[in-house]
Amino acid sequence: MTTGFVFHELYLWHNTWNWAQVFPPSLTVQPGTHAENPETKRRLRNLLEVSGILEHLVTIKPRKATVEEVGQVHTPAHIAKIKEISDRGYGDASTLTPLGAGSYEIALLAAGGAIEAMDAVVKGTVQNAYALIRPPGHHAAADVGMGFCLFANAAIAIKHAQTQLGIGRIATVDWDVHHGNGTQSIFYSDPSVLTISLHQDNLFPLDSGAMSENGESEGKGFNINVPLPPGSGPGAYTLAFEKVVIPALRQFKPELIVVPCGFDASGVDPMGRMMMNSSGYRHLTRMLLKAADELCSGRLLMTHEGGYSEMYVPYCGLAVVEELCGHRTDVTDPWDDIMGTWGAMPVQPHQAAIIDEAAKLLNNIR
Ligand code: ZN
Repeated sequence: MTTGFVFHELYLWHNTWNWAQVFPPSLTVQPGTHAENPETKRRLRNLLEVSGILEHLVTIKPRKATVEEVGQVHTPAHIAKIKEISDRGYGDASTLTPLGAGSYEIALLAAGGAIEAMDAVVKGTVQNAYALIRPPGHHAAADVGMGFCLFANAAIAIKHAQTQLGIGRIATVDWDVHHGNGTQSIFYSDPSVLTISLHQDNLFPLDSGAMSENGESEGKGFNINVPLPPGSGPGAYTLAFEKVVIPALRQFKPELIVVPCGFDASGVDPMGRMMMNSSGYRHLTRMLLKAADELCSGRLLMTHEGGYSEMYVPYCGLAVVEELCGHRTDVTDPWDDIMGTWGAMPVQPHQAAIIDEAAKLLNNIR
């Protein structure tokens, strides 16, 4: 298997300032480090290098997406607003989403990285690809940047594939711990894109990601949310894949699969309350690769989203990339065995009940 890899140093220069996790400093909030800072991304890139796996990947050079490309998803007003804040040097895209000088250009470079990875996968230069891009994208809607996301990288790449590369049906499988609300909203009435999100129930955004959000008009049935209870681990995620995700993909028959890939469902992430470990992500990747082989000649693209444990994101990312390219390094995840012994890692009855409920949504895919 050949796996493409997108990265650029400028991705790490997008400035989220000295916010304390997600709150701006004030007289009662001590300045700190914003949750979405470069460090998890930098350390993932570093572990890919140190493990030796980078040598097994095909480098895909990102470019800045054009305003026209971004405009296939976003309104002119939203694009202009991000540019204006970036040119001014400081501001918030909406809430929780500070940006700084150059963030507009870096966000274009992130979207363009996803586009170039999509090009390589569709044209067959590579079998699959991992785009380690920043800022992330899955919360950004057509007219607003939110949840640390400025432009909807995955959605922009999907539009590019459909308008420029002759691809019709695309499925997204978003396993970031937060609801993929942006991707959902962009394709909500579009039956050519099946959007699936597995996330912690009602975490972020609030009141978003319920099972009842199932698409509208022509897109009715083509949006599936699996809002998992806090505490869900590899057992619950695997069952959700077996009962919902993989059957949905088989029914939909995509020509390509996109994974908005966050690692904030890990058992040590500060922003989520789930219990995934690197073995869990490895297993899900394996299942997706098998489905992609069966359904769409193995065409799979992952775009990096959340993940806030500096120590742990790199091991989850390495496990995923190892599976994508079919090469196992000799790096051992120091958390994996320990986390594997925690209570409630296998699926629990209340988690299985939610998954059974979500499986009923398969009836709505036409
Ligand atoms: Zn997230």
